[in-house]
Order: sequence, then structure tokens, then C-alpha cells
Amino acid sequence: MAVPPASDPPASRPAGSGPPNELSGPARSVRRRFDGPWVEVDESLLARLRAVCPQVDTDDESRVEMGRDWWPLATHWAVAGQVPGLPSVVARPVNAAQVAAVLSCCHQARVPVTPVAGRSGVCGASVALFGGVSLDLCGLAGVVDVDSTSLLVDVAPGTFGVVLEDGLRGDHGLTLGHWPQSMELSTVGGWVACRSAGQYSTRYGKIEDMVVGLEVAMADGRLMRTGGKAPRSATGPDLTQLMVGSEGTLGVVTEARLRVHPLPPAQARGAWGFDTFGGGLAACRRILRRGATPAVLRLYDADESARTFEMAGLCVLVVVDEGDPALVDATMTVVGSECSAGAPLDEALAAQWVENRNHITDLAALTRHGIVADTVEVGGRWSVLEELYFDAMAGIRRLEGTVAASGHQSHAYPDGACLYLTFAGQGPSPGDLDWADRYYRQAWDAVMGSVSHHGGAISHHHGIGLNRGR
Ligand SMILES: Cc1cc2nc3c(=O)[nH]c(=O)nc-3n(C[C@H](O)[C@H](O)[C@H](O)COP(=O)(O)OP(=O)(O)OC[C@H]3O[C@@H](n4cnc5c(N)ncnc54)[C@H](O)[C@@H]3O)c2cc1C
Repeated sequence: MAVPPASDPPASRPAGSGPPNELSGPARSVRRRFDGPWVEVDESLLARLRAVCPQVDTDDESRVEMGRDWWPLATHWAVAGQVPGLPSVVARPVNAAQVAAVLSCCHQARVPVTPVAGRSGVCGASVALFGGVSLDLCGLAGVVDVDSTSLLVDVAPGTFGVVLEDGLRGDHGLTLGHWPQSMELSTVGGWVACRSAGQYSTRYGKIEDMVVGLEVAMADGRLMRTGGKAPRSATGPDLTQLMVGSEGTLGVVTEARLRVHPLPPAQARGAWGFDTFGGGLAACRRILRRGATPAVLRLYDADESARTFEMAGLCVLVVVDEGDPALVDATMTVVGSECSAGAPLDEALAAQWVENRNHITDLAALTRHGIVADTVEVGGRWSVLEELYFDAMAGIRRLEGTVAASGHQSHAYPDGACLYLTFAGQGPSPGDLDWADRYYRQAWDAVMGSVSHHGGAISHHHGIGLNRGR
């Protein structure tokens, strides 16, 4: 394969991206928490990698940083100077040919490669568990092409969400409509690899609804293109969807073709309060059943309504829609009629939600106080959702050390929805890693147990990684 000269320096990551917590001690003393089989990159492979890739780092700081992501449990390990895994080297290509060449070299040497991008994953998926090469994809960045007639964008995988959306809006009057809370921390490739969902998903869909085609570098270094030529095709299994959600295990995404939309000319907001979580869920279900798809349809349980909106004894439903004015009006009419069992609340609550929607919990501060917390997003059918929620909450509350258990419904469909469940526990003393590991595992087991009992999906949009892998 012809490899272009390895000269362009990789683009840097946005300031502030990467895991929030400081690692204790100098990088050279940081140890890996999972100490299974580990593959070293020898001098001969290192030389070959350097010949095809503009930057290959072997320093401790780079390796340690690539050994962790935003997995909340790992914030406790960081305080003890540990990361989940460690690569032997970090390769930073800037184009698809270099990605393919790195993969080809590693394939021939039988050395494992772990793709890594924004490292905003919350399950340890980008961690180089078996050593080898961390393949940093943030250097493949930028919009490649926009077809505004067909409403399609081709984009490089290491493009951060906020950069893509700013470019689409500013230069083309378009939007992707994909707004994960990690907009500033995550990349297009990471979204595709994890089947990400944005906050406006009820109108725009999840990332799998937006991807129409991919360029992928396979493990042996061959490049292939999937789909992308027409809105639908009947030419066999859909290889694009095989890659979506594969978390870097089947290939490396080197370009994505995504559906985009004209900037919405109208927006509407509303809020309602329900006496019970079940009553609010029923309203959401009826709204979707009638074919209305408000961009945001989020129902908070009583605990989260009190915490987020200072609303005691109510379950707050926040609704935001945007798009063509005629469709927005029709949608909000359906929403209003299906929420008649609830109390209309000040629209300012929805504005408050929009304003604060990307506020990120200070994980490092929680860790300092010895609080072990996480959010577990799961999916289920409407017919089981309420029971699934109550069983999961009861399971978390039964655990010794639990200080909080709460949830909300955040992404809705005609057949079911995503529940976003939060737990927090505090052990006898901060820094007790055994307690943190045990409580964390028990809390996850409580939620996963309820999900599997009610026949739900164990992840709606964060994927599997090391955490759910077990
Ligand atoms: C505060 C916060 C809020 C969040 N909110 C949301 C949310 O609202 N919605 C949501 O969906 N997620 C959310 N997440 C989770 C996270 O942002 C997503 O999982 C995101 O898709 C990860 O993208 P990334 O670029 O950071 O990927 P990384 O974490 O670097 O990698 C994730 C996985 O993707 C693989 N990968 C990365 N790039 C490629 C590529 N080019 N080809 C093949 N595989 C690749 C990696 O190997 C790994 O398996 C949140 C995370 C945080 C920290």
C-alpha cells in the first residue's frame, strides 16, 4: 500500500477534554489496575510505526493519559495512582492512509490496537487493556464535504461535536441535531462506535439514524466504504450498521457520512408536573403513539425534580421542540392534550433546562468526598418500563451505603424509552478502593438485574466497554 509522507503534525485536543480527575503521583509510577496479559511494542515495530505515522509517543505521560477515560469508578483508582490499562505506545495518525498503515504493521506483528478519541466514554471502552498500540484518532479532524442539496455531510472521525456543529451552523446554515451532553468532549467516531444519543433524539434520532455510510480501516489495514450512495439500498446486509456500535473491535472509522437538517426556524417549550412517575411515563407514551416527536421529552422522577427544579412532590416533564413552525405547533398541540392529567408549569423550567443541560457533575469533588456514583442508561418497552424503574430504585436503595437513587426518562419511541438511573453511595472512609469497587458492582448489578428481569436493553447509548463487559 502507498503511504503518504508522515509529516503533518496531529491536531491537538480541545483544552479541558479528557478525564477530569488528577492522577496521584508522577506518570512513571502509575500502575494499571487490570494486570492481565500485556503486549509490548518492540524496537522493530516502533521503527515501522514511525515510518508511517507522524507521531508515535512512548513517554509515560502520553501512555498514562491513554490508559483512562471518564469511567466514574476509575476516578477512585486515579487517586491511588492507578489507571484501568496502559498502552505500550500511542500512535497519532492524521489521515486514513496512516490509520490503515498503522493497523497493517500491527496486524503483521500480531500486536493489539485500541482506537481512542475524545476519551469521554464512561465505560472504559477506549482503554488499551492488552497493551500494544493506542490509536489516537483526534488528528483526523474536520468537515470533508457538505452536500446541502441532499442534506449530507462527510466528516473526519476525530472531529469534536462542538466543532462540527459550529461549522455546520456558521458555514452552511445546517445542524446535525445531535446534542450529547458530552458535546465538547466527544467525537464523531466515538459517537458512531458507541451508538450515541443526543438530548434532541426524539426529533433527530440517535447517531445510528444519522449515519448513512462510513469509511472504515479494517484490522489488516484494508480500507472499505459502506453505504452512503442512496437513502436506502437492497444490496444485502447493512455493513454500516454492523460497524455502528462495534466500539473499535471490528475496524476503525476513518470518515462518516451523516444526515443533516436545515437550521430550525421555530422553537417551542413547555413543562408539566405529574403526581407520579408512572403518570408522566404514560403521557410520554401517548404522545409518541400519536406520532408526535418533540425534540426533547424528558421526565424527571420526584427526587430529580426536587434536585434540578426545586419542585417538591412532582415529577417534572420538560418538552422542547424545534423545526418547521407548522410541525412544531402540531407537536405541541398533541403534547398539551396528552399532558392534561398533569399540571402546566412555568415554561421557564424548560428554559432553565436548556440553559443548564450541559452542566457536568464534578466527579473529582465527589471522589474526594469518598462518594461512589454513576449513571446507568438502559432501555425498555413501555409495558415494563415503570416496574423496571421501581425495581432498579429499590435494588439500589437496599444497598448499604446508598445515599441517593433517582432517575429520569430521556429518549422516547413509540415502543419504549430510555431510563437514565443514578446511584450514589458513601463508604466508611474515602479512598477505600475495595469498598468502592464492591459498592459500585452491587449498584450496577441491582440495575442490570432489574433490566434483565424485565427483558430490557442493558445499554441505550453508552455502550459496553470494560464496565458492562463483565
Ligand atoms: C459528562 C459526559 C456526558 C455524556 N453524555 C452523553 C450523552 O448525552 N449521550 C451519549 O451518547 N453519550 C454521552 N456520554 C458518553 C460519551 O461521550 C460517548 O460514549 C461518546 O460517544 C464517546 O466518544 P469519544 O470520542 O469520547 O470516544 P472514546 O471515549 O475515546 O471511545 C469510545 C469507544 O469508541 C471507540 N472509538 C473511538 N473512535 C473510534 C473510531 N474512529 N473508530 C472506531 N472506534 C472508535 C473506542 O475504541 C471506544 O471503544 C457522556 C460522557 C460524559 C463524560
